[in-house]
Amino acid sequence: MSTLITDGSRTYAAEAAALVRPRDAGEVADALARARRSGTPVCVRGGGYNQGGLGLAEGAVQIGTGGLDRILDIDVAARTARVQAGVTWDRLREALDPLGLSPRVTQSYGVFTVGGSVGINAHGRNIDTGVLAATVVSLRVMLADGGIVDADRTRDPDVFRLVLGGLGLVGVLLDVTIELTENHEYRKSRVAVMPTGEYPRVLREVTADPGIHFHYARLAVTPSELWDKLLCVDYRLTPGGNSREPVRSEPLGRADLLKQRGLFLGCTYSAWMRERRFGWEVQHRARMETVRRNNVAKESIQALSIPRRRSGYWLQEFFLPVENLTAFLDAGRAVLRAADFQLLNTTLRFVPRNTDAFLSYATGDRVAAVVYFRQPLKDAAIARTVQVMRRLLDEALALGGTYYLSYHRYATAGQLLRAYPRIEDFFRYKHKLDPDGLFRNQFAEQYAELDPERAF
Ligand SMILES: Cc1cc2nc3c(=O)[nH]c(=O)nc-3n(C[C@H](O)[C@H](O)[C@H](O)COP(=O)(O)OP(=O)(O)OC[C@H]3O[C@@H](n4cnc5c(N)ncnc54)[C@H](O)[C@@H]3O)c2cc1C
Repeated sequence: MSTLITDGSRTYAAEAAALVRPRDAGEVADALARARRSGTPVCVRGGGYNQGGLGLAEGAVQIGTGGLDRILDIDVAARTARVQAGVTWDRLREALDPLGLSPRVTQSYGVFTVGGSVGINAHGRNIDTGVLAATVVSLRVMLADGGIVDADRTRDPDVFRLVLGGLGLVGVLLDVTIELTENHEYRKSRVAVMPTGEYPRVLREVTADPGIHFHYARLAVTPSELWDKLLCVDYRLTPGGNSREPVRSEPLGRADLLKQRGLFLGCTYSAWMRERRFGWEVQHRARMETVRRNNVAKESIQALSIPRRRSGYWLQEFFLPVENLTAFLDAGRAVLRAADFQLLNTTLRFVPRNTDAFLSYATGDRVAAVVYFRQPLKDAAIARTVQVMRRLLDEALALGGTYYLSYHRYATAGQLLRAYPRIEDFFRYKHKLDPDGLFRNQFAEQYAELDPERAF
């Protein structure tokens, strides 16, 4: 019996031929062997939070990694952890906390799996490290033929680089060894409102300051002040800090949840609330705090998980060279205003250069601009959003930018090619490792046969 599965955007769906939940490499091998024999494609799903149908393919066997949930080793001296792919960041941080350790890359949401984060090469608000790929020491992946490759930067480096941000198309990641750091203490050292034009200078100062490990900015999104000003937040290391603060995981406290829901989603329907939103956000974030790395800049996924039948909450993310950020925001503001497109939020983050992943989105230092909005799930409304996002992407591409593959697949093949010039090589390599196309998802179905003129 087939089962209908949707992704995190509630837009993309597929009938799965079967759902399997292996607990070890042997069970993954069995699932792949059965799929090969029956000629059924396979796709892999961690938490399923991506918004691009990356864990979906029609009629595929879906491998859920929830059973691969063991922390295999924590080497305190070497500061590394080897974990199975289905372990979530919350679970890992709970295990590391008593040891005074923390992952080097910290996503704001703890519910994502380590495997799913490797699969899209996630990044956090920490500016001391950058993308997750930079902290992956080695990984073990099962390829389409059932063989296991133990890869790092010197052993099977091509496989290593393809799996990082490989969108589940290269193989099933079994386990991964990542670098850790101390569960440092930080002090929120700056909460400042400034005109957007000042931000590139401030960002240069922030990134040159070795004491600031976490940093982000929130742009005003009300129609009258759209992207004109922003709120900038820094966290500074407090050397030798000895505060005690146990790790917090989902579900976060009720008060926090209500506050975050109110801030984000209360503004969805009320223009009056939207106009006041930026002021509330400043108030909400202004509280100075001392916080441990395992808790810093954490948000609650529950605050965003309000089920609605007719709408979803979508993200899009653009990566810009730092020097072109202001030009992108100016051009993007005009696009959004012309379309009367209402955002719920825009966050800026710094992503230092890293090219470990084959499909790197940070081939130089980048600022990530993450936009968040409520999306009515009607065809006409989706078509309108696609047009707006394509225009924003055109502006980003013209300024040497790119976009994140984790979210909606609105980009034309031509835009994808410009954003990821190595995408054709990626599919060629994949074909070499997986000649029968066992690993499939909707991204590959849309883009593997690249025709720059083809839109979906
Ligand atoms: C509200 C929200 C906030 C977000 N914030 C951030 C953020 O701060 N920074 C950021 O970088 N991203 C962010 N994301 C994106 C998020 O990191 C990705 O969607 C991530 O993939 C989610 O992890 P997951 O476990 O749900 O992965 P999934 O969505 O299940 O999988 C993601 C990809 O990895 C592949 N995959 C999963 N497990 C394996 C495996 N074991 N082997 C091989 N391939 C595998 C899948 O096939 C898929 O292609 C956010 C997303 C949402 C919805």
